[in-house]
Amino acid sequence: MDALIQSLVAANFAPERIIPRAPMVRYTTFRVGGPADVLVNIADTREIPIALRAAKHAGVPVTLIGNGSNLLVRDGGIRGLVIRIASDCAGIFRDGDTICAKAGVTLSAAAQFALSEGLAGLSELAGIPGTLGGGVVMNAGAYGGELAQVVTRVDAIALSDGKPVVFEGPKLDFSYRHSAMMDAGVIVTDVTLQLTPGDPDEIRARMDECNRARREKQPLSYPSAGSTFKRPAGLFAAKLIDECGLRGLRVGDAQVSEKHAGFIINLGNATAHDILTLMDEVRARVLAQTGVMLEPEVRILGEDRKG
Ligand SMILES: Cc1cc2nc3c(=O)[nH]c(=O)nc-3n(C[C@H](O)[C@H](O)[C@H](O)COP(=O)(O)OP(=O)(O)OC[C@H]3O[C@@H](n4cnc5c(N)ncnc54)[C@H](O)[C@@H]3O)c2cc1C
Repeated sequence: MDALIQSLVAANFAPERIIPRAPMVRYTTFRVGGPADVLVNIADTREIPIALRAAKHAGVPVTLIGNGSNLLVRDGGIRGLVIRIASDCAGIFRDGDTICAKAGVTLSAAAQFALSEGLAGLSELAGIPGTLGGGVVMNAGAYGGELAQVVTRVDAIALSDGKPVVFEGPKLDFSYRHSAMMDAGVIVTDVTLQLTPGDPDEIRARMDECNRARREKQPLSYPSAGSTFKRPAGLFAAKLIDECGLRGLRVGDAQVSEKHAGFIINLGNATAHDILTLMDEVRARVLAQTGVMLEPEVRILGEDRKG
């Protein structure tokens, strides 16, 4: 990895933004996972093609992360370069009823900005702990809102050649927890959202209502990656898991939350292996008892610990 680090330094990345053997426990809300060989915190989206060239030159793979709030990184960590687009890469402005934001802007910051501008459309999403970049890839949503309803344009960079790619209208191909960007091999750099003028008191009231519901129903005092499994068509994963009697089921320090059966939480010292074993157990028991195969919503990255 020395060649990669040297290329990044030569390309003027500030040394404090290049993190060798980056502990992924620190960059994911699940607080598990082994180290990434090298992680670079992007501060300006113009740095992305430079980082891609450095990785290509060093012959190592590239992995993208945002706030790490939908990730489960295996205990052996991630080989190659992790490009992190989060709080160091933020910037947001209004243009008419449109908001244009860098991918590292959090959903909560975007929602607060919209509120301060008297623009409605993001209240339901304010409590989702991810970035706009990760949010558009996942088509994040809650309480009847989802990014698909407001995102009109996504600017990205192709992983293959570092060239710009634009997704607009039907090309965004949003569906439940899915987008065109998920399959296209791109790095999202900028997101454009079409909002509607609204009464700030009403916007704030709706935001407070959704955040209150979140605090009441979700195990927010434990590390997790939100809902572990996708909603099967016409059903709720949490309800199925609960009906199968799996609330509280534990493997090591990984547990099906007592408060919300749709969340697997880290009680403190869980490993990724504990969480994956528990996920397999939950899927097997739900399949055996209901005939429904649960699909993970969390994105699983990296490799198992060797030996
Ligand atoms: C307590 C809690 C509650 C949650 N509640 C919700 C909820 O209500 N609704 C919901 O939808 N989700 C929820 N989540 C999950 C998560 O917050 C969302 O999926 C969020 O959109 C992920 O954003 P992120 O920046 O953390 O992305 P990450 O988790 O870092 O990455 C997610 C995926 O996006 C890719 N990615 C990230 N950034 C980029 C980029 N710039 N370009 C290209 N690819 C990128 C990654 O490679 C990965 O595949 C919750 C999570 C937690 C911990």
